[in-house]
Amino acid sequence: MKHWLVVVLCVTLLNLGRALVAAPAFPIDRIPTAAGDLEITFIGHGTLMLRWSGKVIHVDPWSKLADYSKLPPADLVLLTHHHYDHLDQEALARISAEKTTVVMPAVCAASVPGGVVLANGASYTWEGLTIEAVPAYNRQHMREPGQPYHPKGEGNGYVLTLGGTRVYIAGDTEDVPEMAALRHIDVAFLPMNLPYTMTPEMVASAARAFQPKILYPYHYGETDPQKLVDLLADLKLVDVRIRPMK
Ligand code: ZN
Ligand code: ZN
Repeated sequence: MKHWLVVVLCVTLLNLGRALVAAPAFPIDRIPTAAGDLEITFIGHGTLMLRWSGKVIHVDPWSKLADYSKLPPADLVLLTHHHYDHLDQEALARISAEKTTVVMPAVCAASVPGGVVLANGASYTWEGLTIEAVPAYNRQHMREPGQPYHPKGEGNGYVLTLGGTRVYIAGDTEDVPEMAALRHIDVAFLPMNLPYTMTPEMVASAARAFQPKILYPYHYGETDPQKLVDLLADLKLVDVRIRPMK
């Protein structure tokens, strides 16, 4: 084979290879708020990217799921807790810029210096949006007797108020009383990965208690999200939306 033909063939194969491994396009939903659409990018597992009012918000960025060098840098990062699928230094390094604010519970502070630490129940206002930290913990699912996977006080869920729209991102938690007491939630992300978080029954019970208008099960691992759809089939007030959030 002529040398030039080999070169042409190699370049063609290389380009074909690149096209095949190109970054996957993540699904996006748009939710109207009083200050423009909230755009939700479903990266996977417990990881999201939100865009609202010109700001980019990364939630528990995890480089196993996305090439963060190809995603926009963060104006705000929300970390729910320190487990490897929620606090990932590689992803943080890629999306951090001079302007980036990181909001997190104290358990993350040693590995992420310079952020805003929010205790359970505390709130913080940032660039026109309010961030409330909701406790995220286990009551039933234990690593070993008396040792919950997520002890109370360690992790945060967050309620964001963006242009009057309230979005609850629960973190790794069960259907705790602080969740049931929430009101006026427009969009909720509830975890369903076992044994670390909730069964579909727990998620359904939480949904009946605080009735979010839109419910996305997320961080669901091998749990079948259809089970949740079936459990809530009679609850017309709650729009259960399944996205690829294993
Ligand atoms: Zn966890
Ligand atoms: Zn997790």
